[in-house]
Amino acid sequence: MQVDAATAVRVFASLLLTIVIVNIILGVINDLHDRLVAQTVTDPLTGAYNRRQMETSLDDVVERHRRTGAPATLLLIDIDRFKEINDRFGHAAGDSVLRTVVALVADRVRRLDRLFRIGGDEFLLLLPDTNGAAARALAEELRGLIAGTVIPGASSVTVSIGLAMLAPGQQMDAWMHEADAALYAAKQQGRDRVMGAAAVSAPTAD
Ligand code: GH3
Ligand code: MG
Repeated sequence: MQVDAATAVRVFASLLLTIVIVNIILGVINDLHDRLVAQTVTDPLTGAYNRRQMETSLDDVVERHRRTGAPATLLLIDIDRFKEINDRFGHAAGDSVLRTVVALVADRVRRLDRLFRIGGDEFLLLLPDTNGAAARALAEELRGLIAGTVIPGASSVTVSIGLAMLAPGQQMDAWMHEADAALYAAKQQGRDRVMGAAAVSAPTAD
C-alpha cells in the first residue's frame, strides 16, 4: 500500500502528539502518587513523619539491632508549657512554634535520623547507629538551639527531652516506655533539660 507524504506527516505528527500527551498525564499521575504517599506518612502541619510511620521505623531498627547489634537511641522531645503559648499568643502562633521546632531539628540531624510527631507537642527523634553518649550530645545541642531561637509572634520556647538507648533484647514498647519515663523526669525536674533513661532507673545513692 502506498502512503503519500502528506498522510505520513499527519500520522507521524499525531503519534508525536499522543506520546507528548501520555507523558504529561503520566507526570501528573506520578506527582499525585508521590503527594499521596507523602500525605500518608507525614504530619500535614509540620512535615514530620506521623505516628503510623514511627511504628514501622522503630520495628526496623529493633530488628536490625537484634541481628547486628547496631546501637540506636531515641529522643522524646516535648515542648515546655506549650498550652500557655497557645493561650498567650494564639493557636496560629502555636502552630508556627511547632513548625519552627521541627525545622530546627530537621536541619540539624543526619539524613538517616527520623523525626516523628507523635502527639500535639510531642516528637520522637529516632537515631539509628547512635549510642547514648552521642545522642546526649545531640540532645543537648538541640535543646540549646531551640531555647536560643526567637520565634516570630511567639517569643521563644524550651523543650524537655527524654533519652533512651536500645538495650539488648529490648522490644519497641519497653524502649519507648523508658524514653517516656525519662521525659517525665525531665519535666518533673524543672523542664528545659535532657534526661537519660539510665539516670531515671539508676538506684539513688544514700
Ligand atoms: P508541659 O510543659 O508539661 O509539656 O505542658 P504543656 O502545656 O506543653 O502540655 P499540655 O499537654 O498540657 O499541652 C499541650 C497543648 O498542645 C494542648 C493542645 O491544645 C496543644 N496542641 C495540640 N495540638 C496542637 C496543634 O496542632 N496546634 C496548636 N497550636 N496547639 C496544639
Ligand atoms: Mg508539652
